[in-house]
Amino acid sequence: MSAKKILKTRIIIGMEIHVQLRTQTKMFCGCELSFDAAPNVHVCPVCLGHPGSLPVINRTALRYAILAGLAMNCRIATFTKWDRKNYFYPDLPKNYQISQYDLPVCGEGHFDLPSDTTPKSIRIRRAHLEEDAGKNIHDAGNHTLVDLNRAGTPLLEIVTEPDIHSAEEAYSFCTELQRLVTYIGISDANMQMGQMRFEPNVNVEITHQDGVAKTPISEIKNLNSFRSVKNAIEYEAQRQIATWEEDTTYELGKAANENRGWNDERGITEFQRTKEATHDYRYFPDPDLVPITISTAMVDDIRADLPELPIARRKRFVSVLKLSRKDAETLVDHRATADLFEDAIQAGGPTNVLCKQMINVWLSLAKSKQIHVANLGISAAGMAELARMTNQGDINKSAVKQIAEAMLTDAQSPSAWAKQLGLMQIKDTEATQAWVQQAMDNNEKAVQDAISNPKKAKAALGFLRGQVMKISAGRADPKLAGELIEKHLMPDSDQ
Ligand code: ZN
Ligand code: MN
Repeated sequence: MSAKKILKTRIIIGMEIHVQLRTQTKMFCGCELSFDAAPNVHVCPVCLGHPGSLPVINRTALRYAILAGLAMNCRIATFTKWDRKNYFYPDLPKNYQISQYDLPVCGEGHFDLPSDTTPKSIRIRRAHLEEDAGKNIHDAGNHTLVDLNRAGTPLLEIVTEPDIHSAEEAYSFCTELQRLVTYIGISDANMQMGQMRFEPNVNVEITHQDGVAKTPISEIKNLNSFRSVKNAIEYEAQRQIATWEEDTTYELGKAANENRGWNDERGITEFQRTKEATHDYRYFPDPDLVPITISTAMVDDIRADLPELPIARRKRFVSVLKLSRKDAETLVDHRATADLFEDAIQAGGPTNVLCKQMINVWLSLAKSKQIHVANLGISAAGMAELARMTNQGDINKSAVKQIAEAMLTDAQSPSAWAKQLGLMQIKDTEATQAWVQQAMDNNEKAVQDAISNPKKAKAALGFLRGQVMKISAGRADPKLAGELIEKHLMPDSDQ
């Protein structure tokens, strides 16, 4: 066969995402969810798979799954059931996982990504509930240890159609999905803690001189960062194209689909095994669990818990509140921050100043403490008042941060702090006049420049005004100071 000439390639990606639900207890027993507890302390006969023990469905997990389904425009099942997915691993004590096979709680839906150009809709195939496995720990010399604290943790597995066509698109889908699940409160989705795990299914459609070929599908297992999702997809697509160029049998249907792992240090995907067909798992309905009927009333009740979703909220912040897109993104990123911002507007804070202060003052203070803004302990009313005082010129911009920091130490109002710290702006002409005089007496060179050096005049005026602010310890009204300086230097200018 002659060398293959590639005319065009198109990556095809479907995502599977496991989201750990933030319930108090496990999916089918009363054991507490835990992350770094001592091994095997949060276990019981049910999650250890002891014979004769019986699972009971976690109602909150079901509610969360339906809430997520509604947020992704999914069809919610009226009848859903549980199935056993059989496989044998040491971290799966029952030798099967309780999952959902043909009747998942959430059916077809779609997730619409924001875009400047063409809006992108990613179809959701399904989302189902299942239980997590425990952990095998391999760092104990020649032994492998098993910790079953995680066994039975509720997971929502979300599966998309293969509608994603680039690593960037996959990245943006995953970040938006993480924001969504935290917004609706069903998961903390902390990646470091493994609460959200991504498995892209990747193959490539290759248009070549003699037709179109598709490479076999690789499922890249258990990615736990957005960066690794992007890097792994980019690498895997290139690997598949290169393999196809060398090997005529490397085509979908002719060669096996594979599970591969991402080696972050080396930046490559590594072969794990050829992929199981569904029938290998011997799914069958779990005889220990009753199927569930979901009523319209229950769905409506859950729908009432659905907040405005982040993408819609960002849009509204831009179109209604007239924020820049970047500011809207920053504020909407975390729900409690956006809520506080809107509460402060309700409390009478001017939107623009509030937006600036929320980002430059409050978010930066929260960041330095490594907490969320909502946990700073500042009320919406306090933020609104500070913004209002700034807007009215009661305090100078330079005083804002100082007052904000003081507010963190004591629940006193910003105006009380401004008075106590001597930061209220002084608009008194006589007092300002005295500071201006002092500034000019101390800086003859700048005065000379301002009067007789056109090139330096503007800078000199700015410098003198800065000196007035300094002498007044930030309390002078910069506008008034500027006017008085000009009047002094050019006494006849307006005659
Ligand atoms: Zn248990
Ligand atoms: Mn799964």
